[in-house]
Amino acid sequence: MRHNFGAGPCILPQEVFKQASRAILDFKDGLSILEISHRTPEFESVVEEAGRLVKELLNVPEGYSVLFLQGGASLQFAMVPMNLLGDGETASYLDSGVWAKKAIKEVPFFGKVNVVASSKDDNYSFIPKDFIIPEDSAYFHFTSNNTIYGTEMFEFPETKVPIVCDMSSDILSRVIDVSKYDLIYAGAQKNIGPAGVAVVIIKDEILGRIDRKIPSMLDYKLHIEAGSLYNTPPVFSIYVAMLNLRWLKSKGGVAEIEKENIAKAHALYTEIDRNPLFKGTCAVEDRSRMNVCFVMTNSELEKPFLKYVEENGIEGLKGHRSVGGFRASMYNALPITSVHTLIELMQEFEEKTNN
Ligand SMILES: *Cc1c(COP(=O)(O)O)cnc(C)c1O
Repeated sequence: MRHNFGAGPCILPQEVFKQASRAILDFKDGLSILEISHRTPEFESVVEEAGRLVKELLNVPEGYSVLFLQGGASLQFAMVPMNLLGDGETASYLDSGVWAKKAIKEVPFFGKVNVVASSKDDNYSFIPKDFIIPEDSAYFHFTSNNTIYGTEMFEFPETKVPIVCDMSSDILSRVIDVSKYDLIYAGAQKNIGPAGVAVVIIKDEILGRIDRKIPSMLDYKLHIEAGSLYNTPPVFSIYVAMLNLRWLKSKGGVAEIEKENIAKAHALYTEIDRNPLFKGTCAVEDRSRMNVCFVMTNSELEKPFLKYVEENGIEGLKGHRSVGGFRASMYNALPITSVHTLIELMQEFEEKTNN
């Protein structure tokens, strides 16, 4: 058995893979999910159910729409300011990692950007705190979990300014209060489903405030009116996402999976802090539950350790090139038994090294 700690596209439940593969052969009356029209009632009900499950699992209040769009989270970096930031207005951003930086890069096409704080000089090893969000900002944007650096934001910013959040790598991993957000977006391939679709949760009333002309495919309003079916959507990605959302519901929903995610993260960080061969790379209070980044105290042991775990069933543990070392991504579908396996290997390697 392989244990997939990859950062994304990531592990999904085995039963979702099985159901998805059955639907490739026979989704409806012998037709594959890959060949049906997106205008059939069967597929319309897939989109409808997927949207309903997102709303149910995250307890999304009235007045919000759920969209399934293409272009990944990266297109949202541009769609957000295009739809929400008027010419001459300023949007405030927290620079907590490379994804935040890429979001910031798109803003000047549409308006002004104010970076409230940055941890770049410390290689994004912590989440900046005590920043000020000017009250005249059109919105405030932050990244709830920094996938590459392994930091996660557990304190919600205090502000009256509309909040936009890139939640790509921790959406559905913990309970959140959606009513505090005006727009949430997430590339699906970390906790929602396979690559090819992004989920956007948007408070309807924040739209239509600015008068910029927006190309059809980039216009949230148009996608809301079309129910995510303005053009051919990524049919299979949405279908598998729906299966995964059903799985999450059957597990007891977000509150239940959050308990498991806390247990997984606690177990691994405890071992990193106990085992003298390893050390974490970021501020303890900002440690992510989804992406655990660590290095070895003796960097010469990193290659042999990686080889050792890979020979013993571990996949995707190599750290991102900008941090080095290791990154254990532990999304919802990763079972705690995989985390226990990794911990045992860390302990075995410690024994081997001591002898
Ligand atoms: C992976 C990731 C992205 C990029 O997502 P794409 O779907 O590849 O565009 C953006 N933000 C965060 C936080 C991510 O983890």
